[in-house]
Formats: sequence, structure tokens, C-alpha cells
Amino acid sequence: MGARIIDGKAVAARVRAGVAREVEAFTREVGRAPGLATVLVGDDPASAVYVGGKQRACTEVGMVPFDRRLPANASFEEVAEELERLNADRTVNGVLLQLPVPAHLDGPALTALISPDKDVDGLTPVNAGLLSLGRPGLRPCTPLGVMELLAEAGVELEGAEAVVVGRSNLFGKPMAQLLLAHDATVTTCHSRTRDLREVCSRAEVLIVAVGRARLVTRDFVRPGAVVIDVGMNRLTPEQAGNKSGLVGDVDYAQAVEVASAITPVPGGVGPMTIALLLRNTLQAARYQAELEAMLAQVASSPKGYPSSLHGESERPL
Ligand code: NAP
Repeated sequence: MGARIIDGKAVAARVRAGVAREVEAFTREVGRAPGLATVLVGDDPASAVYVGGKQRACTEVGMVPFDRRLPANASFEEVAEELERLNADRTVNGVLLQLPVPAHLDGPALTALISPDKDVDGLTPVNAGLLSLGRPGLRPCTPLGVMELLAEAGVELEGAEAVVVGRSNLFGKPMAQLLLAHDATVTTCHSRTRDLREVCSRAEVLIVAVGRARLVTRDFVRPGAVVIDVGMNRLTPEQAGNKSGLVGDVDYAQAVEVASAITPVPGGVGPMTIALLLRNTLQAARYQAELEAMLAQVASSPKGYPSSLHGESERPL
């Protein structure tokens, strides 16, 4: 058959162009551009590359990047103080702690210190809770990116059998929640799932985020399924089937024969994450600007709350 290739690079470029246009309008209205701060602890080269990519992307759409780096031996208190400073800085709208942090630090406890309003990775307990309650909030970027790809590919989620392989807090759990919020029938698999192949082969939408190269082969894929491969596995040059040496969790050559649509690796989900991080930062900046305007109104209102809330807007005293 031969599946349609879902081009994440092209979709991500469109998202970024849209964000850039909206950042321009925001900057005109509010008088300053949205700011995104990244906090990197230590000198892990892969993390430094990711942070560099986020900083560049930020500049490209007209946002202001804040690059905070702490030494690998920084204490919990030192990282916490940096996060608190960024929480308090009104020119910073988004705060992101690059994970993983060095082993002596508690990454989830540090992430939880980020103000929920600035949590553009959507990983704080408050935003995770809002997602699970189906209430508005900031959502994790990679699952959001997958939702964007599914929408772009015209996938009808209502009532669809969706299977997510992987249950991490970073991806699998929020992905399942987002699919549920779109009325899919969702199954989440993990390392203890008894017959992974059988469960996957029921899926009309199969989303895989495990971190095992080519785990999902042809017989995992239901004919006509939409397959989203989140995995990023680096092969040795000898093992590599493509130039980048990067492969997904899905055996692409096999799955492409059976699926109706599929994301490649690289060029599928990967580019979406930063694009959605930028969109989240814009969303956070808008929310904070509205809140600031409302608080300014409260401060100047004789009744102590915004006039728009008691139906007396613009009435002179
Ligand atoms: P993770 O925290 O290591 O979680 C992996 C999940 O896979 C766990 O839930 C684990 O189950 C499950 N698993 C492991 N072996 C399995 C098996 N044989 N069968 C079924 N399930 C199995 O990883 P993650 O952060 O979610 O990331 C997963 C992959 O996605 C990685 O390759 C990562 O690089 C990639 N990723 C890409 C992006 C992007 O921007 N494109 C973003 C995030 C992640 P248990 O819970 O039972 O251990």
C-alpha cells in the first residue's frame, strides 16, 4: 500500500511562522516581547545542544531568550534560587529546566518549583493535574506536537482505538490524557504489558515512545493505522540505516507498507517539540499580560476589583 508520510518539519515550520506573526502583534500591544528562560545544570553535551536549539528558535520568532547555566555540582538550593528569580522576573514568561539534571539533584522536585503560569514544558504537578481534570493549562510540548500532527493528517480521534506505548510523565501519560480529551478510546502500554504486539495491532492510532530502536515491526501495525513514532535512538555508524544514525521505535521500512500514515525519524515528531514550546511560551505570555492588566485595573478600581467584573466598565466616578 505505502503510507502517507506526515512531514513534521513542514508542520513545525508552519507553527513557528504562526507564532512569529503572533509574537509581533503581542510585542506591539504589550510593549515587550515574550521571554523564555532555559536553565541548564551541568555540561552534558546533548543537553547543551537542546538548550542551544531552544535559544535559537526563541530568537528566530522574535522572543527574548534567557540562558541560565549552573555548574554540574550546583546544589538543590542554588538551582531553586535561580528558578525563584526567574519566577519573579516579569520579563520572563516561560521557564524551562533542562532534564535530566545531574544525579544528585531531584529533577521532579525542582520542576515543581517553576511557577505553573510559566511552566512552558507543562510538567509541574499543577499543570499535570489540570490536564487530568480536563481544565485549561500548559501542556507538555511533545504530546501537543503529536496532536498537531494528527490534526494536520486529518485523523478523526472521536471513538478511535488509540494505543500509546510508554507511560512516562514526560510523554506517555500526558499523551493518553490528550487523546482521551479528544474522545479517543485509549490504551496505555508499558514494559509489563503482557502481549504488546496484540494490543498494538488493535490500534487505529498507534503512538510509540519507548526508546528501543525498531521495537515495533510490521505485525504490530493494524492495516490502515496511523503510526506516530516518538522514539529517538542513536545508532552506531555501522548499525545506521540512514545518514543521521537516528532511528525511531518503529521499524519504518516495515510499518510504512501497512500503515495509512506514518511519521519518519528524523523529521516527524522531533521538530514539533520546539515549535510547541514556542507556542506555549506565547500562550503563557498572553495569560500573564492579561493578568497584569487585570491586576492594574484592580489597583485603580475604587471597589478593589476590575470594573469589567461588575458591569460598570468605563463609568466615570
Ligand atoms: P522513558 O521515561 O524511558 O519511558 C519509556 C517508557 O517505555 C516506559 O513507560 C517503559 O515502561 C516503556 N517501555 C520500556 N520498554 C518497553 C517494552 N519493551 N515494551 C513496552 N514498553 C516499554 O522515556 P520517554 O521520556 O517517554 O521517551 C521515550 C522515547 O521518546 C525516547 O526514545 C525519547 O528519546 C523519545 N522522546 C522524543 C521526544 C521528541 O522531542 N521527539 C520527546 C520525548 C521523548 P515502564 O514504565 O514499565 O518502565
